[in-house]
Amino acid sequence: QAKESGRNTARFFTEKLNNDSLYYLNIAYGLREALAQQQFELHYQPQISLRTGQVIGAEALIRWHHPQNGMQSPAQFITIAEQTGLIVEIGQWVIEEACRQAREWQKAGLPPLSIAVNVSAVQFRRGNLDKLVMKALEKTGLEPHRLELELTESLLLEDIDHLIAQLDTLKKLGVQLAIDDFGTGYSSLAYLKKFNIDRLKIDQSFVRDINNDPNDAAIVRAIVQMAHTLNLAVIAEGVEDEAMLKHLRETGCDEVQGYLFSKPLSATAFATFMQSRL
Ligand code: C2E
Ligand code: MG
Ligand code: MG
Ligand code: MG
Repeated sequence: QAKESGRNTARFFTEKLNNDSLYYLNIAYGLREALAQQQFELHYQPQISLRTGQVIGAEALIRWHHPQNGMQSPAQFITIAEQTGLIVEIGQWVIEEACRQAREWQKAGLPPLSIAVNVSAVQFRRGNLDKLVMKALEKTGLEPHRLELELTESLLLEDIDHLIAQLDTLKKLGVQLAIDDFGTGYSSLAYLKKFNIDRLKIDQSFVRDINNDPNDAAIVRAIVQMAHTLNLAVIAEGVEDEAMLKHLRETGCDEVQGYLFSKPLSATAFATFMQSRL
């Protein structure tokens, strides 16, 4: 009996492992194809200034049109792209495409916007993200201060000299740096100073319950105060209703982003959204 169930357990694990590695290989192979076949697309979510009510920027978010499985969200493939190293090429495409689109909107006469791009630690580890960003800016003609790179707190814990050197070069160029999902990681105030960060993005997990959970409300208030003391701007992510917006406004948050204003939109839909607000 025991032997029997032991065998079943072993078989269960083998099958599970096989399924997992098949899934992994499938995505990894698919991602390679996706680059070659241009199956990626960027969607853009507006960022709104609470001071002026204007759209001041957009965050570029990657989507994958899988030929069989349909639209894939980044949660389904970014980790695998990081593990296989493909994120370097994918990330390069994202940066160039976002800069190109932002420049195109400028030429079309849309109000000035900055464009925020998510970057993974792996892209820095390769050691030449600064040069790749420069190349994208030169190629597209976008002014450096219109580009913002969204970094994660965990990246700042990697104390590698060439990370510091790359961030330095990017800052000297005029590129803006933001910390994404702020409050969920372990970065300290010292890092924010050391790396010359411009903006904090308060993670949506604190915004979601801001009106019901006093701890979340206190965390948001503390982040806003700290950011302003350090001369950083603060944007809140995941703003879904008027009550959240009101609370954030009263707390002194500078900017907001979330479904209340718009979901991430295709480039065409984003331009229409901008025109409808003029
Ligand atoms: P993130 O950078 O923190 O992006 C915010 C996520 O929250 C996006 O999910 C966005 O669609 C979603 N969101 C926006 N407003 C709301 C709201 O009001 N409520 C809720 N519940 N969600 C909202 P998405 O597009 O699925 O992206 C997930 C994550 O994937 C991103 O989190 C980012 O970490 C990563 N990602 C996306 N694009 C890229 C990329 O080009 N490169 C890299 N390395 N990572 C990316
Ligand atoms: Mg982001
Ligand atoms: Mg975030
Ligand atoms: Mg995130």
